Amino acid sequence: MADSSLEITCRGCALLCDDLLIDDDQTGRLNCPNAVAWLKAAKSRLATPPALPADHSERMQQAAELLKQAKRPLFAGWQGLSLAAETAAIQLAEAFHGYVSLGNNRAQILASQRYGGAACTWGEVRHRADLILCGQCDPFSSLSRFDERIVQPEGRFRAKGESARVVYLGEAADKLPAEQYDDIIALPENQLESALLELRRLLADVPSRTNKPVSELPAEVLAQLKTLAESLDDAAYPVLLTAGGDGCSLQWTKMVRETNDRSRLHRVSVPAGPATGNPSESLLAWTGFPDAVRFSDTGIEHDLDRFQPETLIQNEAVDLLVFTAGVLTPRWSSFLKTLPANLPIIALVEQDLKLPELASPVITLEAGVLGQQTGGDMLRSDGIPLPLRPFAPDESTSLEQLLRELLPN
Ligand code: SF4
Repeated sequence: MADSSLEITCRGCALLCDDLLIDDDQTGRLNCPNAVAWLKAAKSRLATPPALPADHSERMQQAAELLKQAKRPLFAGWQGLSLAAETAAIQLAEAFHGYVSLGNNRAQILASQRYGGAACTWGEVRHRADLILCGQCDPFSSLSRFDERIVQPEGRFRAKGESARVVYLGEAADKLPAEQYDDIIALPENQLESALLELRRLLADVPSRTNKPVSELPAEVLAQLKTLAESLDDAAYPVLLTAGGDGCSLQWTKMVRETNDRSRLHRVSVPAGPATGNPSESLLAWTGFPDAVRFSDTGIEHDLDRFQPETLIQNEAVDLLVFTAGVLTPRWSSFLKTLPANLPIIALVEQDLKLPELASPVITLEAGVLGQQTGGDMLRSDGIPLPLRPFAPDESTSLEQLLRELLPN
């Protein structure tokens, strides 16, 4: 039975807003269509409480047997998990000497390993940022309450009416809500890298050898980049938002690193789609390595190239996939569809997650939905842990419990 006075955290997008009253879809006080849709879908699903499949114990036994027999299991997915479930997943991978491959952008990981990061929280952006540079990402679309929660509120260091300047730099600018931006630097197709090289040159104040811009960008864009470089220099608290996956991870990271040699530039990641947690942080904290590791008798091996999920499958290096997720992202959906028919899969998923049609034999173990039926903390994209209070708690097993039940005694 849902408690209508409860304040809950919404998993609708990467902002993970923790100020929702669950009757908001009726009162209209909640100004977020995505959250209202999320709540309505959850309530209608929970109106008929889902029951565990009758053969759940049998499936658990089969999964335990498969894990025992596997010589080289791959543990993957891990999107939308609580922190406790991420920890249990790491312990299971360690207990069965498996690979863990989180499938993240390799170039982005290498760039941060080499040049470090300069992260800040959404709270800092909200209270302090005076210039928000959206690098090939549109937070007004991917984070429904971005304007209300991050741009508009006054803060300790920002008086009412003094919202941050928001600038877009990237391709596909015709699809943006133009009224939300103070300035849009619209790049021609395939010119993002050239523009970033030019912006880095301007920020470092390095004349090119010919005293001409290093790229062939249109004159109007070059002039806008010059103004942007000056604004970044002048800003007291500039923040760069990037979504990843634009092929320019190295350029963005170098720009942040170089700028921070002389002044200041913070960076926050803006994943599209629902909140997915941050399993890379947990894996790093527990093992000392990010994203791609193999546990063995002798220790932990880290190899970003060899341990990519697709590479492991192509090389026939794994004999079992343990796929754990609360959210199915397009990245993992595509991966699952390419699996060979002879690879057994154990899928530990939340009850509302629909797996694609798979050629391989699957043992599916279902858990209650985090933040609806079960509780726990999830890391927001900026690294802040937030509680997900279940608004309709029931007897459902959580993903963490399922993972722990599979651990050897
Ligand atoms: S902005 Fe995102 S997290 Fe916040 S209420 Fe809307 S959908 Fe939920």
